[in-house]
Amino acid sequence: MRVANLLGRSVLVSGAKALDIENASGGRFSSEPQAAYERWAELLEWAATFDVVEHPGSVTFDEASLFAPVPRPRQVFAVGLNYASHASESKLDVPENPLVFTKFPSSLTGPVTEVRLTGDRVDWEAELVVVIGAGGRDIPRAAGWDAVAGLTVGQDISDRTVQNWGNPPQFNLGKSGQGFSPIGPAIVSLDELTRSHDRNSLRITCHVVDTPGAERRSLQDGNTADLMFPIPDLVARLSAIVELYPGDLIFTGTPAGVGLGRDPQEFLVAGQTLITEIEGLGSLTQTIVS
Ligand code: ZN
Repeated sequence: MRVANLLGRSVLVSGAKALDIENASGGRFSSEPQAAYERWAELLEWAATFDVVEHPGSVTFDEASLFAPVPRPRQVFAVGLNYASHASESKLDVPENPLVFTKFPSSLTGPVTEVRLTGDRVDWEAELVVVIGAGGRDIPRAAGWDAVAGLTVGQDISDRTVQNWGNPPQFNLGKSGQGFSPIGPAIVSLDELTRSHDRNSLRITCHVVDTPGAERRSLQDGNTADLMFPIPDLVARLSAIVELYPGDLIFTGTPAGVGLGRDPQEFLVAGQTLITEIEGLGSLTQTIVS
């Protein structure tokens, strides 16, 4: 099952087809996109009874019409330095406990957007994003995956100047500019993903197109198998301190290749297009504007 947010309504998607969840279920499920994660298991069961593409209510859609599949999470966690390769390029030690900050929910957007630069040190971070389903407190590591509804693609766009204000620095504001948290295109349920992929090992890439029509240039090429705190571990460690709610998000960290870690350093400039992709989950496209 793939759940998306088409112009503010909760839909199931398959290929280029979308099916309105409220209409197709005769009102059993809400059109409100955030509501899907409260009843994820029920929704999964219902969605398994038909084929989205064959359903008479399905319509063709364009990914540019999708909003954030999780528009109003109660909590957004983001994990810094969760790939050894990125810790090393950042010249920082691998942390003993996950380094956790937030991206304020007002920064969330859909998969195809324009991002306005807030300065001359705005950077990219391709990330796998977890959506919490059942949630709870004190979830054991062995049950970590059971708390997860699905996965999606995210960008943790970061204004490095704001991120490093002060001593010690605080990350939250530098990570929360308008449009700095694109996610999508859809939330892919674990059962759908694991039919074709290993949920513990997904290739994650980020490319840039410098000018319209130019070749893609590779910026990041990693694999989620290299997460130092894998998803069940993050669920266990976070839920030991805070309650996880349905629809909460966890940005799991970025592999090597961000602009800050390059020699010479490189940051986003107006006119570029950033493409973030995770196998089995889809891609994001951000056009950078000044
Ligand atoms: Zn990040």
